[in-house]
Amino acid sequence: MVDRGKFLAAAERPEEQAAAGVPAGSAMPGPLLLMGAPGAGKGTQAKKIMAVWRMPQIWTGGILRDNRARGTDLGRQAKQVMDEGKLVPDDLVNRMVAERLAAPDVARGYILDGYPRTLGQARWLDELLAGQGAPGGALPVIAVSLAVGYNQLLRRVTGRRICPTCQRTYNVYLQPPKADTVCDVDGALLAQRADDAEEVFHERMRTYEILTAPVLEHYRQSGRLVEVNGDRSVSGVSAEILHAVEELRRQRNS
Ligand SMILES: [Zn+2]
Repeated sequence: MVDRGKFLAAAERPEEQAAAGVPAGSAMPGPLLLMGAPGAGKGTQAKKIMAVWRMPQIWTGGILRDNRARGTDLGRQAKQVMDEGKLVPDDLVNRMVAERLAAPDVARGYILDGYPRTLGQARWLDELLAGQGAPGGALPVIAVSLAVGYNQLLRRVTGRRICPTCQRTYNVYLQPPKADTVCDVDGALLAQRADDAEEVFHERMRTYEILTAPVLEHYRQSGRLVEVNGDRSVSGVSAEILHAVEELRRQRNS
């Protein structure tokens, strides 16, 4: 586990590097699994980390779509399963991930999003990476969990409004429009996505906690979990992530 006090002191340094577009520090970031509940800011942070460390994001939806577009065997099998309204089985997902991880752009590291989703997938990935002779050595996955309090998540998600005309987003609690309910730019009536309704939020949170608990525990037990306070500014959070990951890589190398 990473000492929070230590990395907070240096939190501004990676941020300056980020602004300069220079990869932070010298440690190889390696594979990172980014985890966060709905509203935790996972998408925003993924973009920041990708820009600083210049590494790709790998998500199963994207791999699936790519396989189907290329008409691969795996893609056809997945399509058949999905057409039957079933979940794509672990085995098939794992094989597609293995193929994706053989591409040269992942050599320094990559961000995993939504995979591994189960304990079985997490263990399978550990074995795959342990047996892989990737350039610079195949580093094990570090899981980064963005921790944000329940009530803050609730406000972030249920307060979200979008302008149907210009797509600008607002938050009625955190970033309200000048006039209630209408867009500052074009005066259009703001809308809420169905997914952001309060009942849907509670349900998504329950599902998230049930699904991720065993995966989180897997990384915690093997000393590869970094928990970051996600209830801060976007740049503060990304600085903390970059530093915590570097710190953990260094500890594991020494
Ligand atoms: Zn608008």
